[in-house]
Parts: sequence; structure tokens; C-alpha cells
Amino acid sequence: MTRILFALTFAASAFAQRGPMHVAPEALTQHVSFLSSDALEGRRSPSHGLDAAAAYIASWFRRIGLEAPVDGSYFQLAKPTLRRQPMDGFALTIEDGSTRLIIDANQVSGSLSGAASIDGVAVYKLEINDDKAGDKLTEDDVRGRPILLVPKAGVRPFALLRKITGWQPLTVLMIDPNPYADGFGAPRLARAQPGLLRLHSKEAAEFAAKLPNGLTTAKLNFHAAAPKDEAVEVRNVLGILRGSDPKLKDSYIMVSAHYDHLGRSLSGPGDLVFHGANDDASGVASMLEIASALAGKKPKRSIVFTAFYGEEDGLVGSRYYGKNPVIPIEKMAGQINLEQLGRTDVDGEKELAAYNLTGFDFTNISLTLSRAAQRYGVRLFKKEQMSDPFFAQSDNQSMADVGVPSTTASLGYEFPDYHQRTDTWEKLDYPNMAKLTNALAAGVLAIANQKQAPQWNESNAGGKKYSDIRKNRK
Ligand SMILES: [Zn+2]
Repeated sequence: MTRILFALTFAASAFAQRGPMHVAPEALTQHVSFLSSDALEGRRSPSHGLDAAAAYIASWFRRIGLEAPVDGSYFQLAKPTLRRQPMDGFALTIEDGSTRLIIDANQVSGSLSGAASIDGVAVYKLEINDDKAGDKLTEDDVRGRPILLVPKAGVRPFALLRKITGWQPLTVLMIDPNPYADGFGAPRLARAQPGLLRLHSKEAAEFAAKLPNGLTTAKLNFHAAAPKDEAVEVRNVLGILRGSDPKLKDSYIMVSAHYDHLGRSLSGPGDLVFHGANDDASGVASMLEIASALAGKKPKRSIVFTAFYGEEDGLVGSRYYGKNPVIPIEKMAGQINLEQLGRTDVDGEKELAAYNLTGFDFTNISLTLSRAAQRYGVRLFKKEQMSDPFFAQSDNQSMADVGVPSTTASLGYEFPDYHQRTDTWEKLDYPNMAKLTNALAAGVLAIANQKQAPQWNESNAGGKKYSDIRKNRK
């Protein structure tokens, strides 16, 4: 009898520890539809819309009883530089023999780091069909030259762009088939590597298509005033669910998502708000519901739920956090970042009850999350072409850069309304998202309860790189 009772009690407590999770689709709908509403104006960093979203997230943390870790506040205040590009004196033309391309300021997005004054300098064109397009490119091709990039639809040349901007080109222009520029004059947080301008112009695409690859006879003329900088105030939002184990509670898992988006378009037809429902109101909604789901489950480690500003400006908010951590980096056991969990029409397929991780083989986080996902009928798998290249494309990178084992969970990587004003809340699949959120909540709980903290996988080149960073900190 005693033994049976013991077994029953044990089973009951194990059940309470491991699940089940009951995230309601309606709760996710509530969060996403509010965060992506017109009222929040696209949550640009900085804006009133961003502040309203921060207040909403903090009020949720308060409701479920999370600790406020910044001197009793949920807000980590930052004062980054906001860069405005004055429009006066703007002129951008490319001439090739008798053909002349004129680009209007409202067909350009991006910002400069200083004034542009370029007269008749030969353009170097690079067509990008795949990841290998830049393999033969040398520093001599790039340094001091205007570079014109022509990516094939669907190719997003992140690594190549980092390589090119590191070689000090005169300027980098990239053809962008998305017809909506958010405006050359749109104020943006200054990022570490400025200078990429996107040309949202059909004429520019046609002009570029006719040029040969490599150094061309086309000459760039480009004049623009120096940007104007001012300090602004924005916030990361953090709440801690305190661990229950006397030893492990001083070790932390971060569950994060970015709450900013692109704001409003300066011009164009129709609704000007970039709603950012899937990118990344969905990740925030999922984070809020994971926090709620775990609040009663007494995880052994502490969990810090974090909403970052400035991701769309180049991971600005998470980079600020990495340099100014609220919890010492040595105590951070791992990070699971959440992105784009609502749209099931991703990467040209219909994906149900499944999700991916970036840097899938960089850490052993994938193993624990995968086991938990199975219990919820969810498949965790690696998208071979996307997993590693996208590791650097969200806020997990900022924590990896200080050595913390990290990954970003997402349903997929490309979806039809990506960075367009049509990324609205009705297009998300909330029952599916609830399923993924349950699986993620169970996975986070499993990691929080594990004796051993997540580890970088040293037999993988990506994992090795960050493992070395972690070791060198100690
Ligand atoms: Zn985005």
C-alpha cells in the first residue's frame, strides 16, 4: 500500500514537472492581434508603438508574478543613436553610354554613415545566384568601388554582405524586388555596419540585368547629405521566473523574442503600417505563453524571459544586452530565441506540427527540445540549407558572441509577406502555433531541470567557435 501510494505520488509530481502544457490558441491570438495592430504603428525602435508593446509585455510579466530584475523594474533602458537621413541634395543616377537610370529617394531604403559625393565611378556588378556567388570575389574587386548586387529571388546573401562591407567598398547598392521601400529618410537606429542601400525599383532591376558581371562601364553618380544623429531611449523588457532548486536557481535559461518591427512606410498606397504579425509578434506571444505555462511548474533553473528592441536594425537591442547584461554572462546556461512561429506557408511548403532551429548542430539544445517536441506530436528537424546561415540573423547571435549556447526556433525562414505591410495577424495559424508553443514550453522546462547545462558541440565548426569564446571568458 505504502509502495503504491509512493508510486502514485511520484507519478503525479513527475507529471506536474513535465507537463502537460495547455497553451490556448485564443491567448496567442490576443497577443499577436494587439501587438501587430494599427495602434502600435509597426513598433519601430524608437516609437510610441514600441513603448506601448513594452508596457504590454511588462504588464503580462507582472500579472504572472515574474521578478523585475532591473532595480525592481522590467525595463532595461538603453540610449542608442537614431540616424536620420536628410533628403535635401539627394541624387542617384547610373549612366552606361547613352542609357541613364535615375532613382528617386523614395525607391531607396537603408542609411549612410556619412555624406555621399560620388561622381562617375565605375560600378562593379555581382549577380548572386547562390551562397557561392562571392567565392571568387577579392578585396581588390571591392575596396573603394561602388558595388551593385543583384540577388536571384529568394537568395538572401547575409555572409556575402558581411564580407563585402568588411572590405570598405565606396557604397553597396542592392536590387530589392520588394516594391515597398520604407524610405531613405526613415529614421533608423545606427548599426555597426551601415552603408547598404536597397533599390526598390523595377527600372533599376532591368538596368542592372543588362550589365555584365564584374567591373562594368556603368558610372555611378551619388550625392546625399550626411546623416543626423540623436540619442533616443528604448527598452529591453525582462522578467525572471525564479528557479526552485537551491543550487540551480543561480543558473539561467533565457527565452527571448524581438518585439520591434519596421514601423510605418513613409509613402505608398494603402495601409502604411508594417504590422509584423509573424515577424515577430508571434515569437513574443509564444514567449509570453511559455512564461505563463511554466510559472506554476517550479523549474529548477531560473528562466529569464526577454523581449529585445532593435532586432530589425541589426540586432541592436540584444547586442546592447550582451555588452550590458542584467544577469552575469557566467550564470547564463543557454538561450532559446523565438521567431516566426505563426505562418505555416513557409519556404515554399506547408509546414504543420513542425519547427526548426538555427545552428541545429552547434549545441545539444536540439536534442532536448526534440525529445520534448515528440511528446506533443511536434517534429523538430533541421532545414539543411537554412539552419546555419540563419544563425546570425536573429538575437541568438548576440548571446553566442559572448559564449552562451544559443539557438533560434522558428517554423521556417521565408514566408510570402516577409517584411511587407501585409504581414497581418489573421494570416497566422493559431492552433498550430499553440501546439508548437506547448512543445517549446516543455522543452524549455526540460532544459531548466537538467543537471547539466546546455553545451556547445565542439565537433561542429560553428559550435567550436563559440565554445572557445565561452572558455576564454572563464
Ligand atoms: Zn524581421
